[in-house]
Amino acid sequence: MSGFGRDGSGRATLGGRALFELRAEAGVGTPAYFYDLDAVADATRELCAAFGAAPGFVAYAVKANTAGSIVRAVAQAGGGADVVSGGELRVALGAGVGPERIVMSGVAKQDWELDLAIGHGIRAIQLESVEEIPRVAARARALGKTARVSLRINPDVEIDSHAHIATGHDEAKFGIVARDLPTAFEAIGRGATALALDGLSTHVGSMLTTPTPYLESARVVCSAARELRARGKPLAFVDLGGGFGIDYGGAPVEPPPAFVRAALGLLAEQGLGDLALVVEPGRSLVAPFGVLVASVVQSKTSGTRRWCMIDAGMNDLIRPALYGARHRIEPVERAPSAPEWQVVGPVCESSDDFGLHPLGGELPGVVVLRDAGAYGFTMASEYNGRPLPAEVFVAGGKVAHVSRSPGVEAWVERRLGA
Ligand SMILES: *Cc1c(COP(=O)(O)O)cnc(C)c1O
Repeated sequence: MSGFGRDGSGRATLGGRALFELRAEAGVGTPAYFYDLDAVADATRELCAAFGAAPGFVAYAVKANTAGSIVRAVAQAGGGADVVSGGELRVALGAGVGPERIVMSGVAKQDWELDLAIGHGIRAIQLESVEEIPRVAARARALGKTARVSLRINPDVEIDSHAHIATGHDEAKFGIVARDLPTAFEAIGRGATALALDGLSTHVGSMLTTPTPYLESARVVCSAARELRARGKPLAFVDLGGGFGIDYGGAPVEPPPAFVRAALGLLAEQGLGDLALVVEPGRSLVAPFGVLVASVVQSKTSGTRRWCMIDAGMNDLIRPALYGARHRIEPVERAPSAPEWQVVGPVCESSDDFGLHPLGGELPGVVVLRDAGAYGFTMASEYNGRPLPAEVFVAGGKVAHVSRSPGVEAWVERRLGA
């Protein structure tokens, strides 16, 4: 694994190559995302290896980074996909993920999305409410097929994370709470041959730093699995979700394989070792292996404050504005040094602020925003008339693919034509 680094002269690198060289090779301006595909593949292989001989698979949460090059790298390294829309399902299939390794989540799946999933016979449609069950059964009947489904259990577990990324508490819109499970089992029974209940799922949220909350929700799933078995219902897998955190420069977190090993240990302890295990990591497979490169456009000093205005904004990377997240920002040409500058984007919102970063006495021309491989480009918008950024995919120390920015011209034409 590699991702971001610095060479002997202190210049920023990605996948072992100097970023400024990669940028010249790709012929892109700024802002631009750069991803290390080899590191994504390594991280996927490492996580798959943590299963040992145990049955199961890694369902990469495609929403973290939907780029075809990324999903193909994950698929070639042995990963599957967790998708949350028909669009993501088509990207996963098109990138070579087999339907046997695709699960679909989402609280408001539309009929055409269900039809696509059922038509391709994906591993499981994860049901997020009792009310969704007859809808899925009706779509399966209309297609003359059996839909394989799993119930997403809301384990009512509070995680120590930002409220916007905690999904497993009783008040969240996701999943079915334990007291509604018997009703859900009955509703699935009424679906008769249109539905096959193959699994039980959960996902407590994002940025877990240790397996402890993961195991807490897994225990809720295990007890539901044992209850189902006691009713004589066969079950093929449990899907314990994603949410493995990464170190954004604050505190170290347990590596993703530790979560898989802990989950396998729990399944064995609960007498459920024969069930396949599915995990749904998004962030941990891509975030550390992508960066956003931006140019310094303007500086301003007022009183004791030093401001640095860059050409990447909350429209390119919204995590700081949305979740109060912090991404380390450093010069590309040299190592970070004091003093710190308040780095902000160009967007007309005060939340377009990336925080204080050690850019040095004299501002660099180009900076790098680290750990931007997940929930970066996929959440980007064209707010303030700013076109989507370019994306550069690096493999074997070379530019393997460039996805160019649509540019301002295209944006102007589309808006004038609206
Ligand atoms: C977002 C999401 C994930 C991935 O979460 P990460 O924190 O990126 O690992 C997994 N499963 C579901 C259902 C999700 O919504």
